[in-house]
Amino acid sequence: MTATIIDGKAIASDLRARVAAAVRGLADTHGLVPGIAVVLVGEDPASEVYVRTKSRQVIEAGMRSLDHRLPATATEAELLALVARLNADPAVHGILVQLPLPPQIDTTKVIDAVDPAKDVDGFHPLNVGRLAIGLPTLVPCTPQACIMLAKTVRPSLAGLEAVVIGRSNIVGRPLVHLLIAESATVTVAHSKTRDLPALCRRKDVLFAAIGRPELIKDDWIKPGATVIDVVINRVTGTDEKSRIVGDVDFAAARVVAGAITPVPGGVGPMTIACLVLNTLRAACAAKGLPPPAL
Ligand code: NAD
Repeated sequence: MTATIIDGKAIASDLRARVAAAVRGLADTHGLVPGIAVVLVGEDPASEVYVRTKSRQVIEAGMRSLDHRLPATATEAELLALVARLNADPAVHGILVQLPLPPQIDTTKVIDAVDPAKDVDGFHPLNVGRLAIGLPTLVPCTPQACIMLAKTVRPSLAGLEAVVIGRSNIVGRPLVHLLIAESATVTVAHSKTRDLPALCRRKDVLFAAIGRPELIKDDWIKPGATVIDVVINRVTGTDEKSRIVGDVDFAAARVVAGAITPVPGGVGPMTIACLVLNTLRAACAAKGLPPPAL
């Protein structure tokens, strides 16, 4: 078997185009231009790249991106004051504080300070709680991307056996709630799970969010399974050249899986498209409009 490649780049581009069309409609009918404030503290090179890409794609979708840079030495009070100003600014519908933050800043305090209605990352405890009890909310972008990609090949996940490897607040835990909402039967695996390969071999859908390059081999995968690889690991080969790989050994896994996301070009681009979508959703909610039908 050769797996269907789930082309995250193309699927993300299609979603962004639909969001852009909805944004044009909002401008025409309600004079509304969704705006997101992207806050970057310090000069972490990976974060700089993410923030640039996010801002560019938000602008391409016809929205405003209001970038705020603070130095790596910024205090917690300075960042909280900025968040308070953005919470109060009616032109800002979404607030994204790029993580990780420098050690002098308490990340939990900052997440708690963002207005839940502008929390386009879906990290605020109120939104996390709403997701956990199945209420509509702003859903974290990466898990949302994972579900959308899986559903391109498995339109219904109902009754399927799924494994989520990783239990972080950003990926693993919210993904579990989304899978329950899809009526999948979910197992969460993590660093203390016993015999992970045997567990994975029984599952119809596998989500990998560990951060261990090519850990998941072909003999971990049930024939025909759908494999969604969240992680972008940079590794250096024997030729000293660096390349990007996922948690899944893609070349081996694609021979066994029914469908698989590549890395790069899978969950990464779709995550940013979901951020653009969340910003549109937050702007509609702020205006008292129903969520866009895309
Ligand atoms: P994290 O480090 O908080 O969580 C990693 C999880 O993996 C933990 O829950 C841990 O229990 C589990 N784990 C570690 N070793 C394991 C093992 N040997 N077997 C089973 N489980 C094991 O990371 P995170 O924030 O969830 O992110 C996971 C990865 O996804 C990171 O590498 C991150 O860069 C990537 N990520 C990608 C995107 C994207 O847009 N593609 C977005 C967010 C995160």
